[in-house]
Amino acid sequence: MRIALFGPPGVGKGTQAKMLSERRGLRHISTGVMLREAMAAGTPLGREAARYVNAGKLVPGEVVRKLAEAAIADAGFDDFVLDGYPRTVEQAHWLNDFLNAHDAPLQAVISIQVPDEVIVDRLSKRRVDRVTGENYHLDFKPPPPDIDPDRIIQRPDDRPEAIRKRLEVYRSETLPVERIYEECGKLFRVDGVGTMEEVYRRIEAVLELVSSPASSGRVRS
Ligand code: AMP
Repeated sequence: MRIALFGPPGVGKGTQAKMLSERRGLRHISTGVMLREAMAAGTPLGREAARYVNAGKLVPGEVVRKLAEAAIADAGFDDFVLDGYPRTVEQAHWLNDFLNAHDAPLQAVISIQVPDEVIVDRLSKRRVDRVTGENYHLDFKPPPPDIDPDRIIQRPDDRPEAIRKRLEVYRSETLPVERIYEECGKLFRVDGVGTMEEVYRRIEAVLELVSSPASSGRVRS
């Protein structure tokens, strides 16, 4: 399967992509994770990206494109789930051209829908284990007490100022991408409110629809 998860920050794209990766064997390709790895390693790319990521802005230019394309090629152009790419109309065109050139177009773009107030709550209460990358939520999934508290951090871009900026950027630069996939019948909206398992079942229902021979990609949400 070749799919992308779409939606504003905090809707659970990373969580669902991880579940899809574990249960369906899809390669989880997250440009955000790749950028944070470069930042943690202190590479020139990471240092440059940090200026944008920590402020909640999109990393400009072709850097992210190259990261995503290399990961897709490494996955063999199939069995992957994109998380956080494409995030602009330009990136969507790059991606479509790249995948079409390898005869491997996306089969579904799943847009996860969550009200803004839930997003702000999720992001401001999100904590991350900097060693494993595991995400926690202070109320619903608190970090286990036996983990060294120094390992549990708040992402700089999960602070209130950066959250506001990220939502603003999402609306102006990322949301228009939906239209591209809507027009070719590949966009599916799923409700992102509920438990991780509930949301996962909704995504699975879309994937079953898309892979059923009768659908031939014409089904809309
Ligand atoms: P995420 O982990 O997906 O929330 O991404 C974290 C941050 O990485 C974003 O707020 C951006 O600064 C940067 N980033 C991730 N993916 C992209 C992308 N496709 N284009 C530009 N910047 C990105």
